[in-house]
Amino acid sequence: MREGLTVDEAQALILEATPTLGAETISACDSPGRVLAETIVSTRRHPPADSSAMDGYAVLRRDLRGASATAPVRLPVVYEVPAGGHAPRALEAGEAARIFTGAPVPPGADAVVRQEDTTAVGDEVGIIIEPQPRDHIRDGGEDFEIGDQLIDPGVVLGASHLGVLASLGRTVVSVHQRPNVAILSGGDELVEPDRPADSGQIVSSNSYTIAAQCREIGARPVYLGIAKDRPEEIEAHLRAGLRADVIVSSAGVSVGDHDHVRDVLEKVGCRLRFWGVLMKPGYPLAFGVIESTGTLVFGLPGNPVSAAVTFEEFVRPALRRMMGHRSVHRPVVRARLAEALRKKPGRLHFVRVTLGSLDGNYVATPTSNQSSGVLTSMIRGQGLAIFPLEADKIEAGAEVDVQILDSGFFDQAERGF
Ligand code: AMP
Ligand code: MG
Repeated sequence: MREGLTVDEAQALILEATPTLGAETISACDSPGRVLAETIVSTRRHPPADSSAMDGYAVLRRDLRGASATAPVRLPVVYEVPAGGHAPRALEAGEAARIFTGAPVPPGADAVVRQEDTTAVGDEVGIIIEPQPRDHIRDGGEDFEIGDQLIDPGVVLGASHLGVLASLGRTVVSVHQRPNVAILSGGDELVEPDRPADSGQIVSSNSYTIAAQCREIGARPVYLGIAKDRPEEIEAHLRAGLRADVIVSSAGVSVGDHDHVRDVLEKVGCRLRFWGVLMKPGYPLAFGVIESTGTLVFGLPGNPVSAAVTFEEFVRPALRRMMGHRSVHRPVVRARLAEALRKKPGRLHFVRVTLGSLDGNYVATPTSNQSSGVLTSMIRGQGLAIFPLEADKIEAGAEVDVQILDSGFFDQAERGF
């Protein structure tokens, strides 16, 4: 087992050990946000025929040479094609047909004249322009033809994809499965939030944070409860999680001082891949795989900020990989630091920051308390500024990378354009 990896090394090892889950067929209505596990090939032509893009008149252009407002050309209106209807016969020279948006263009017609460019005169229409070839006609098949490859596997389905699926008559779709994530907390001091807690106890919040982090990306959390710091209890809880795709424990199974935890992991068949990542918050992170079931096991540190940040950096990418996502990391923006940062080299720091903007640049301001026990620093910050492993200072005004944790961050613009 390796110890003391860099963040990049740890992420790479985890993603290497993480499989993409198989496919399941679900209702297309339930598919937004899911990752497509098949190729969508068109079985239809859309639009099925040449159709009118306007309310107006289908015509033959050669009848309208020289037509203008001062010299309108009058044509008899021989029939009407409503949306959803058909022309009763081909249009012939010297004739016009009333037509509505979306209706199929009669055979023989080679342009549609907008209603605004006509004057109705009894059973006739007066046309005051010379139309261009195929004016206001949507070509049959201009959207897609039978056999066109429309959506590739790996695409994250959104509203427009659902519209295309509906156009094809597809009501079900094959997508990657969502992982089940067994969540447990460990510690003699912990009590559930709905229980009275005395001053020697700590209300367990990590499982709630972690379950929400799972739900936010569509993974399925299953709560296993709190295990006391005894090998039998930890073992019983871990065994209850063996049917899950992933076990996430905070405290309890982080290795370090409680040596029996490593024994318990071995006893349930978990091969630890590494222990300890050169980062702050969150050094004490363990990762392993249960050999018999393939279940991934993450032992996160107990401190609430450390648990939340290590979930972000290591568990979230793995869960997204399982669900078939190609991009598994949070978006990163460049921002200017509002104040200088100092640290000792040797660990990468994830600094909670609020993001503002000044003269078109993002400005990152560290939240005041960076202690790994202060979970409210995660509420106040929208992102994590990266203070690199070997760096010891970053001056005020210098540029840093900031991972955006707040998924609504880019929705906050007051105007869309
Ligand atoms: P440990 O990793 O067990 O040394 O825990 C580190 C700190 O995190 C201690 O102050 C614990 O009380 C706290 N902690 C551990 N588990 C949780 C939890 N589920 N919710 C909130 N705090 C926790
Ligand atoms: Mg503990």
